[in-house]
Amino acid sequence: MGFKIVFTSLLMFMGSLVGIGHAAEPAKELNLYSARHYQTDEALYSDFTKKTGIKINRIEADDNGILERIKSEGEKSQADVILLVDAARLWRAQTLNLFAAVKSKYLEQRIPKNLRAADEADGIPWFGYSTRARVIVYNKATVKKSDVDTYEKLANPENKGKVCTRSSSHPYMLSLVGTLIERDGLLATESWAKAMVANMARSPRGGDTDQIKAVASGECGVALTNTYYFARMMQSNKPDDINTISKIGFVWPNQGSGGVHINISGGGMARNAPHPKEALLFLEYLASDSAQEYLANGNNEWPVVPSVKVENPALKALGTFQAEKVSVAAIGKNQITAQKLLDQVGYK
Ligand code: FE
Repeated sequence: MGFKIVFTSLLMFMGSLVGIGHAAEPAKELNLYSARHYQTDEALYSDFTKKTGIKINRIEADDNGILERIKSEGEKSQADVILLVDAARLWRAQTLNLFAAVKSKYLEQRIPKNLRAADEADGIPWFGYSTRARVIVYNKATVKKSDVDTYEKLANPENKGKVCTRSSSHPYMLSLVGTLIERDGLLATESWAKAMVANMARSPRGGDTDQIKAVASGECGVALTNTYYFARMMQSNKPDDINTISKIGFVWPNQGSGGVHINISGGGMARNAPHPKEALLFLEYLASDSAQEYLANGNNEWPVVPSVKVENPALKALGTFQAEKVSVAAIGKNQITAQKLLDQVGYK
């Protein structure tokens, strides 16, 4: 269905070119609705325009803002490409039918299967373009590393009164619980969530940077964060950040038991894209070597394309790690189950 609509738009697009002939080719452009907002992404966009002559009109908002906007614009939406962070949000956009399925040999070759949406009959709705890991940080003075080296151990009695997390409705929590459901099963994950609630140092709140700071101050003994927040703080020259980092121990969780939870930032073609040809070019460009480097370096993440290697001193300092094998498509799909489970055990 989605693909049919794109195909029609493509014919209309080509028709308009034929109609105009050689006299005045229409300005090539692309409407990008993006929840990425990193300054370093500027170079990524200007590089694309330089290579293709296609101008990028950017609409930036947070993830929810973008979903709401496209939903309310409906079939008249001018969105060509949608970029979001976290598999839970990409999956939500997919269920809202916001993506057109895309067929691209290049994207299928470049982006590993576990880092994109499951194949549909007419193509793939969204692709991961950079990865981040959800790691554990602890207060070196009050917590032993061996007590907090898996997600499961955070729920153990020795961590009573020490655990801090974001709120249960945040996609980062939903995706983590989504992967635990895949790995440990529904019942075990429910017991885990119940025990996590009993172990809280405070009611869940704040972003990942707030968790790191609360661990350093001693308000929390242990917390979860995405790697890029930690890497950003490690690279900071501010005395406060240097002091914070000095108090924190870092764990790659579940090494030897399923691996660290991996999530993505990603995107796809909008279902009613007015410029589908340009949209596809852009989606393919994002998987190119240079774009992969921009995307990863810009936010201290890792490229999805295995042959692309980035040199990031902060990430390198964290050492090598075993990543989970669960696909982001499976994780995204579990978010409703995850939310229900967390609500049931009173996880705020
Ligand atoms: Fe984030």
